[in-house]
Amino acid sequence: MASHHKWGMVVDIDRCTGCQACVMACQAENNIAVNEEVHFLSRRAHQWIRIDRYWDGDTKEKGVVTWPDVKARFIPVLCQHCENAPCEPVCPVYATYHNNQGLNVQVYNRCIGTRYCANNCPYQVRFFNFRDPLWPKSLWNHLNPDVTIRSRGIMEKCTFCIQRIRRAERVVEGQRGEQLDDAKLKAGNWMPACVNACPTDTLIFGDLNDPNSQVSRKSQDPRHYKLLEELGTDPNVVYLKKVDPQHAQHA
Ligand code: SF4
Repeated sequence: MASHHKWGMVVDIDRCTGCQACVMACQAENNIAVNEEVHFLSRRAHQWIRIDRYWDGDTKEKGVVTWPDVKARFIPVLCQHCENAPCEPVCPVYATYHNNQGLNVQVYNRCIGTRYCANNCPYQVRFFNFRDPLWPKSLWNHLNPDVTIRSRGIMEKCTFCIQRIRRAERVVEGQRGEQLDDAKLKAGNWMPACVNACPTDTLIFGDLNDPNSQVSRKSQDPRHYKLLEELGTDPNVVYLKKVDPQHAQHA
């Protein structure tokens, strides 16, 4: 079935404070198992969206950069929903594919856990379930019934909260017969959980095919770029560069 939507995201890193609200909201919405220290130490923690942190400063003159000359930079990284996704052609069972809304989809009950997709993803945003997911008993009633719990041996990753998108389409387009737009996504609380949770509006989600959507307009901002653009993956996630007033003055 043809779709008139192409879902995408803009990440304005000038606004990100690294607060991790998006990370926590994603964990809760998508039934991601609790990460413990041992999982981080063994590099097996699951974070469908993570905040990469960099320290930035000019070391040329002083050799060592100290506060206040050093600046922390935060970059939220999630599945880029690439148009030319390197993860897709390597899957031998077609468990990951591109749908007609620009989304890179993972079919859990087709996945046989080869992990080829994770090895081929240049953004390191795919996660393999080396263990069955576990939650403390106090969290059992907090699990989201709209999201499948992935068992051991299955690959998973960001879906742009497809359960919310599907609900929005059913209600707005299926039941009401109206066109889905930014205002209706916001009113129904159907934006991805990370977008809803961000206190600084760093994350902007919407329909890239709608010229009036905020995501379409922001993706044309002069500050725009895509992560690892030189690889030709053509992501549907667009980043906006940091605005550094000091450097702007010297430019
Ligand atoms: S970011 Fe990685 S997992 Fe997502 S579509 Fe691109 S290659 Fe696939």
